[in-house]
Amino acid sequence: MQSYKHLILGGGMVAGYAVQRFLQDGVGGHDIGILSADSAPPYERPPLSKGFLLGKEEESSVYINQPESYAENGVGLHLSTEVASVDLEARTVSTTSGDFAFENLLIATGSAVRKLDVPGADLAGVLYLRSLADSKRLKEAIASAGSVVVVGSGFIGMEVASSAAQQDTKVTMVYPEDRLWQRFLSPELSDYFARYYQERGVELVPNDSVVEIIGDGSAGGVRTESGRRIKADAVVAGIGVTPVTGYLDGSGLRIDNGVRVNEFLETGTPGVWAAGDIAHYRDVIFNKDRRVEHWDNAVEQGKHVAASMQGRREPFVHVPYYFSDIFDLSYEFWGDTEEADEVIHRADWEANSVNAMWFKGNRLVAALLMNRPDEERDEVQEWIREGTDLSGRKKDFP
Ligand code: NAP
Repeated sequence: MQSYKHLILGGGMVAGYAVQRFLQDGVGGHDIGILSADSAPPYERPPLSKGFLLGKEEESSVYINQPESYAENGVGLHLSTEVASVDLEARTVSTTSGDFAFENLLIATGSAVRKLDVPGADLAGVLYLRSLADSKRLKEAIASAGSVVVVGSGFIGMEVASSAAQQDTKVTMVYPEDRLWQRFLSPELSDYFARYYQERGVELVPNDSVVEIIGDGSAGGVRTESGRRIKADAVVAGIGVTPVTGYLDGSGLRIDNGVRVNEFLETGTPGVWAAGDIAHYRDVIFNKDRRVEHWDNAVEQGKHVAASMQGRREPFVHVPYYFSDIFDLSYEFWGDTEEADEVIHRADWEANSVNAMWFKGNRLVAALLMNRPDEERDEVQEWIREGTDLSGRKKDFP
């Protein structure tokens, strides 16, 4: 049985950045193993719905570490290897490529896309976006499609619709909420982005759901709950993800919306951590348990746990951060809007310049910034992290 001092389950961004940290710290490559269900070495996911999908970035630029660097450093990168179960007492993992033993374990199997559950959902031309292979399939489909229906108005829906519309594809977005990305955006931001998309030819269909994929042999469009039939050459759904934890059933780990870990990203079993999409961790800034499904979280937690696995035990203290590129816009977001009771916008909408700030009382809990001065970027991060009392400043903001 192959044995590793540091074994990582999942070959995504957590693994890519954890390996980078291990090697920088002088850990021998032979001490590191990665078990990955993917057939490609760890890659960045953000370009898959943006630059790579648009044809602006090459495949070679999406890899976190040069593909050949794993073998050159002696890192055991086991691709197309699906984990079936984990035995924490024996400290072994069973996979489709045999069994592995570990001393320290980092669980980072990420998430899998939620699929449409409607008649016709298994037709060719119904696409999702998670992996590099998915992005290649979608890129080909967009290149040959005259029209695409995008289901969902979350991160994937917004970014894929923008990438497809920029390639002269007719895009229709169908989503159940009465405004664009209701869970995340303020009403003002939903209106602003809705206008931006419509002005660039995207048709928005709010308050509606896909109830059937129509087509003979391959997707030819959708039928919606309100009775609309929308023709399209491909259907792309971005309707969320669920953490991949099935193989941990019966392991003794606490599974509850991911793998439960503390502020050190430690499970209840010594020498076993979780990071990335799968980690339901204690956020000591907001004093709540959370799971974050974004690039920055995977990168930072991957590096953090790689240090912890070498004996440097520190809490993970980090303001959640996301970014997105749509059409010619880029925005950044920090924090958590869930408990906000007020949103204040400092904005010049015509100039596409926005600083949306979510408050809970006098404390800033989240901010979305686009085309704003650097000092605003710095101050919102500090205010959120420090829980600064802004009662004296709030009146100056609008
Ligand atoms: P998402 O951001 O969670 O958005 C999914 C959206 O689809 C939600 O608004 C959800 O509403 C809605 N929805 C759920 N079921 C639906 C249905 N049957 N029909 C229509 N809409 C439905 O997830 P995603 O856009 O699929 O993205 C997948 C993952 O990739 C997420 O974890 C996301 O954070 C990540 N990602 C991040 C970035 C970035 O950070 N820039 C970019 C791309 C992807 P409810 O909230 O009501 O369920």
